[in-house]
Amino acid sequence: MANYYQPEIETMPVDEIKALQSKKLVEQVKYVYENVPYYRKKMEEKGVKPEDIKGIEDISKLPFLSKDDLRDAYPYGLLGTDLKNIVRIQSTSGTTGRRVVAFYTQEDIDMWEECCARAIVAAGGTNEDVCHVCYGYGLFTGGPGLNGGSHKVGCMTLPMSSGNTDRQIQFMMDLGSTILCCTPSYAAYIGESLAEKGYKPEDNKLKAGIFGAEPWTEEMRQEIEKSLGIKAYDIYGLTETSGPGVSFECEEQTGMHINEDHFYAEIIDPKTGEVLPEGEKGELVFTSLDKKGFPLLRYRTKDICILTRKPCSCGRTHIKMSKPLGRSDDMMIIRGVNVFPSQIETVLLKEGYTPNYQIVVDRVKNTDTFDIYVECTPERFSDKVSEMQNSEKELALAMRAMLGINPKIHLVAPKSIERSEGKAVRVIDKRKLH
Ligand code: ADP
Ligand code: ZN
Repeated sequence: MANYYQPEIETMPVDEIKALQSKKLVEQVKYVYENVPYYRKKMEEKGVKPEDIKGIEDISKLPFLSKDDLRDAYPYGLLGTDLKNIVRIQSTSGTTGRRVVAFYTQEDIDMWEECCARAIVAAGGTNEDVCHVCYGYGLFTGGPGLNGGSHKVGCMTLPMSSGNTDRQIQFMMDLGSTILCCTPSYAAYIGESLAEKGYKPEDNKLKAGIFGAEPWTEEMRQEIEKSLGIKAYDIYGLTETSGPGVSFECEEQTGMHINEDHFYAEIIDPKTGEVLPEGEKGELVFTSLDKKGFPLLRYRTKDICILTRKPCSCGRTHIKMSKPLGRSDDMMIIRGVNVFPSQIETVLLKEGYTPNYQIVVDRVKNTDTFDIYVECTPERFSDKVSEMQNSEKELALAMRAMLGINPKIHLVAPKSIERSEGKAVRVIDKRKLH
């Protein structure tokens, strides 16, 4: 028996959803045009006026926004209302130059938390559940989003945040957590740690998990379901659109329903920007239909996806997106943190190295490993091990300051990294996540 948090919206007939989206889009475009000079300018450059947008079918007349716009407009250029109406910010894991800061009014927060509440109820959550949230809290959207959703459902919420696995397990067992919210890699790690402590899957009270913020495979789902004795549901989102809960899985576990009353999704050809028909693979683009603090229109996520509106056995009518199948840029997600090779290059040049390097990412025991091989300059190259180790340490610190996570640096002899004939192979990702 399917359960819904907001049944009238989640099972609304498709033509009514489309009418609602059209009405909201017309209002939202007017709002953005009047309140966000940065986007107004983009609309003017494209020769489109608010009155040209009469419904959702006109959306392709609007200009796109991308991470570059976010950088150009940082920090306040895409704000949609007076700061006095803003009650919160969230931000992606601290990366200079690529930092995304999103602003929320109280209504924006309520909407976001409702989306997360829909995800929790779809995973079987009720006010009798004990919802254990070990996504990170703070600037990261994972913790605050699911925490708010859990409150709305009326679960007893455990705001654990990430880390300290022994304590996670103690609270989980003592208080009888029934729903676990965290990244899939952390869920797998908790599963392993429970087994190491001698617990069997049936010893815990967990029944479901809501896992997202990074790519994960069906194999990983099965492993987590088995080790924790639960059903594992996917959840998707990004800071730019609010955070987790833009879409979520239902009991069918065949893709994530997009909360279409708040987010309009398009799939485009990443090269031409042309909108592709339903069922085709391309880049996912989101328009927030009612956010007021940070109202992004046609935001290019760079996530490669497929949308389908096949009827779902859960009764929800909202369109479904596949798991992200890759990226149309070179962003990697390592230990939950967004990393771009260009950031690594910036650090290398600043620290006096040449941009001859190779990044190797792997997953060992459900934890990402992150190694950077860097060619030493002839001046710096030394046969004294301690000197080389010091340079490696210094460079690792500089990388940490830029990326927010620690790579292992390996300085190698000048000219030892293979030069390829065409485009250099900078990244070797052995995780096989897609
Ligand atoms: P989050 O808090 O969700 O990590 P970020 O804004 O830091 O938010 O990163 C958003 C990106 O994370 C998305 O564009 C997507 O690439 C990735 N992501 C989020 N959820 C998922 C998921 N369930 N599966 C795969 N990738 C995801
Ligand atoms: Zn469904």
